[in-house]
Amino acid sequence: MRVVMKFGGASVADGEKISRVAHIIRDYNLKGYEIAVVTSALKGVTDLLIEGARKISTGCVDDVEEVIQKLRERHQKTINEAIKGKYKKEATEKMESLLEELEKVLMGICYVGEVTPRSLDYVSCFGERFASPILSFTLRSMGVPSCSLEGHEAGIITDDRFGDARPLEKTYRLVKERVLPLLKTSVPVIAGFMGATERGIITTLGRGGSDLTASLVGAGINADEIWLWKETDGIMTTDPKLVPEARTLRQISYLEAMELSYFGAKILHPRAIEPAIHHNIPVRVKNTFNPDFEGTLIVADNKKMEHVVKAISVINNVALINVSGAGMIGTIGVAARVFSALARARVNITMISQGSSEANISVVVREEDADKAYYALKEEFQNNIVKDVDVNRNISVIAVVGAGMSGTPGVAGKVFSAMGREGINIIMISQGSSELNISFVVDEKDAIRAVQALHKEFGLHEVQ
Ligand code: ASP
Ligand code: MG
Repeated sequence: MRVVMKFGGASVADGEKISRVAHIIRDYNLKGYEIAVVTSALKGVTDLLIEGARKISTGCVDDVEEVIQKLRERHQKTINEAIKGKYKKEATEKMESLLEELEKVLMGICYVGEVTPRSLDYVSCFGERFASPILSFTLRSMGVPSCSLEGHEAGIITDDRFGDARPLEKTYRLVKERVLPLLKTSVPVIAGFMGATERGIITTLGRGGSDLTASLVGAGINADEIWLWKETDGIMTTDPKLVPEARTLRQISYLEAMELSYFGAKILHPRAIEPAIHHNIPVRVKNTFNPDFEGTLIVADNKKMEHVVKAISVINNVALINVSGAGMIGTIGVAARVFSALARARVNITMISQGSSEANISVVVREEDADKAYYALKEEFQNNIVKDVDVNRNISVIAVVGAGMSGTPGVAGKVFSAMGREGINIIMISQGSSELNISFVVDEKDAIRAVQALHKEFGLHEVQ
C-alpha cells in the first residue's frame, strides 16, 4: 500500500504531538506501507511570520530580532521534546541555518520598508521549512530512515501568482521522478504549502495549502490513498458537541466533501482535492488520537445510497442583510447593483434569495463583513428604489448535505415539516441547483434544536 500522509499545524503543534505523529508513521512503515509525508508549519507559525513581516516593513531592526527569537524558542523547545540523541544537534543546526536565512530576508524587508507578495511568500513558507526537518529528524531518531524535502525539491512547480500560486502540469511528472524513488528505502517528509516557479522563485499555494501539496504528491506518486490526519474521527454527520449521537461517515463522495467544506466543516479546500479527483485517488480523513480507526473515505462515486442526507452543518458568525422597498418591484438592475456594490466592498456572499414579489433581496454574509456590506448598500441606494437595508446578526445557517438528494423528491418537504413540528421559524431558504444541499436561515437561538431535529429526522444516528 502506498499512501501520502498529511499532518496539519494542530497535529504538529509541539514536540509531544510531533512524536505522536512520528510513532504513527513508524507503525505504518513497519507494516510495510510506502509513505510520503506532507507537513504544515507548527500551529500559529505561519500567522506569526506573516504578521511579523508586515510589522517589520514599517518597523525597525529590533522587530526582526523579536520575530527570530520567538521562532528560535518555539522550534528549539519542539526539537528538545521530540528528538533524542545525536539527531537533536543536527536538527538544531538545520534550524539555525534557516533562521540565519530568514533574518536576512526580514532585514531586507525592514530596510526596503515594504513587503511585496513575492517577499511575503518567501517569508511565510519558513514555517513548513522548519517543520519538515524536525519531523524527519524525529523519525530518524526512532530508527526510521527519512529525509526532508522543500516543496520545489519534491517537484511542486507553480506559476507566479504569489500568495495563491497554481501548480503547473509538469508537477506530477517531477513529483514522480523525485519522490517515488525515495519511497522504497525511506520516508520523505515534504514541506507543504510551498512551491517555486520554473525560475526557482519561492511561491505559496494559499492559506491551508498543505492539503493541496498532499493531493499533488498523491497524484504524482500514484498513491493508493491520501490520508489527511485530523484530531477527530473523520467526517461526522454533524458536530458532536451539538448532537451527541453524531456518527462518523465511513464513506462520502468528493462532491459531498466539497459541499461540506463549503459549509464550514473545514475538511478541505475544494481546490485542494482537485488533483485527487482528477487522478481518482481516494482521500481518507483519520484521527491522530485514534489511529487504528479507519476514519472517513472520500471517493469518486458513492453508490451506497441508504442515506440520502449525509450530514447537517450549522454556520454561525453570519449575518442576514435584507434590502427592501416597493420601488424595487419591476425595476431592472437592482440585483446587479446590490451584487456589484458588495463586490466592490469585497464582501463575499454565501447565500442569496429574492422573493418573486421582487420587493426584497436577502443575502447572507460573514458577520465580520456586515458593517461593510451595510454601508456599501446604503451608499449605492441613496434614492427611493431601496427603502430599507436591515442587518440581522442573530442568525445561523443550517445546511443539509447529501448527493442522494439530487432527484429524490420529498427531501425539502421532510426538512421543513421537521422544522414546522419543532415550531422553528425559517427566515430564508436556498437550494443550489446541484441539489447537493438545502440551506436555510433560522434564528440563532433555534439552531441547535434545528440540527438535532434534522439529525433524527434523517436517521443519521443510525449511520454505520
Ligand atoms: N501553514 C499554512 C497555513 O497556515 C499552510 C497549511 O497549514 O496548510 O495556511
Ligand atoms: Mg451571528
